[in-house]
Amino acid sequence: MKNSYREYVLQCLVCDRSYQPHEVSYYCPHCKTDGALDALYDYPTLKRQWSRDSLAQDHARGMWRYDRLMPLSSTRFIPPLLVGNTPLYSRPELLGKGARIKVFVKDESRQPTGSLKDRASALAVAHALQSGASTVAVASTGNAASALAGMSASLGLHNVIYLPKSAPREKLAQMQGYGAEIVLVDGQYDEAFEQCLEACETHGWYNRTTGINSYMSEGKKTVAFEMCEQLNWQVPDLVFVPVGNGCILGSVYKGFFDLLQLGWIERIPRLIGVQAEQSNFMYRAWRSDQPMEHIERIAPTSLASSINVALPRDRLKAMRAVTASDGEFICVSDPSIVAAASRLAASTGVFPEAGAASAFAGLLKYAQTHPDTPQTAVILITGSGLKDTSIFLSDSTKSQPRVLPHHVPASPAEALL
Ligand SMILES: *Cc1c(COP(=O)(O)O)cnc(C)c1O
Ligand SMILES: [Zn+2]
Repeated sequence: MKNSYREYVLQCLVCDRSYQPHEVSYYCPHCKTDGALDALYDYPTLKRQWSRDSLAQDHARGMWRYDRLMPLSSTRFIPPLLVGNTPLYSRPELLGKGARIKVFVKDESRQPTGSLKDRASALAVAHALQSGASTVAVASTGNAASALAGMSASLGLHNVIYLPKSAPREKLAQMQGYGAEIVLVDGQYDEAFEQCLEACETHGWYNRTTGINSYMSEGKKTVAFEMCEQLNWQVPDLVFVPVGNGCILGSVYKGFFDLLQLGWIERIPRLIGVQAEQSNFMYRAWRSDQPMEHIERIAPTSLASSINVALPRDRLKAMRAVTASDGEFICVSDPSIVAAASRLAASTGVFPEAGAASAFAGLLKYAQTHPDTPQTAVILITGSGLKDTSIFLSDSTKSQPRVLPHHVPASPAEALL
């Protein structure tokens, strides 16, 4: 029988051309690597064949319970690790008693490799194997690579990772443990990006890199599906999303967009993209009247390594997310990110890495200027603090560990006491 529900077309955000999946790899052949593609499904058919209620019975499959809205022709190569089903905690008083903004925390630190990137990398390996690839590669600030290495390990797939030399040791340790082939690049993420692209073109490897591979948003969007399900299909007013390459932000928008097409939700929340002041291309582009090609690339220097990029590779989808949802971009300083990370950890028990904590820093800043509007907000905590522990260990505002002197028993009798 024909599996009509999983049919989709790919449409270029730049030139509007539409393609059948077999006609393209993962970007628009006409616009080359600038041509980000949208996967668009047969929404009217899906709407007739599928319902919100059927999802609940399918929980054990994690993010794959939404596979009718995923661009795969087969579920044969889905990695065996459980991706998705992360908790959404209601913390209405996170901003203080009586605060008008009620907060929910979506905790992606609980993914198999510790970040939201697992949603994309899980789809990447399934798609790569379905396409007949034997090696997958990625350029990454760290988490996309840990995720690809982990997902590949679960399937025995060879993978090559391009990372800036400065990537956190914890992420490096993870990839090494998973058995990835690692190339450390002398430079920032942007140099790693170019080197990975070149290697993939030379060797014919499958490239999972964000901004090259338009399919990645189709994996990450499942986080928006889960939020809606967990909120009983009552969408929040605001969603705060950390922004480096802009893929997560664009994906969250796409998730809400898909659900709106199905009639499962009534509106798309205002999406707030949060950037570090020291890595703020999207913020500057959004504020400017100039087209994005004219915005200056500035060497990024934020300590929040996972959002530290000069040129966001998924900038088209990220910009669309904010403009189409009537959202905004916000910039936060590195010290405010560090403070937000500690405050979130100490007040919720959710332990974020710096990049993830920027979502909370963004909410804190937003709340200062909108104290009187009653709203609900989700902060997307994209990855675990265990992946980059330096910000916590160097936080001098926290009570420091007490050191007890080593006590040597004076006599065997005292040792027995
Ligand atoms: C990758 C990442 C981000 C930023 O996502 P982009 O898609 O690059 O904008 C934010 N937080 C964490 C923990 C990440 O790993
Ligand atoms: Zn195009």
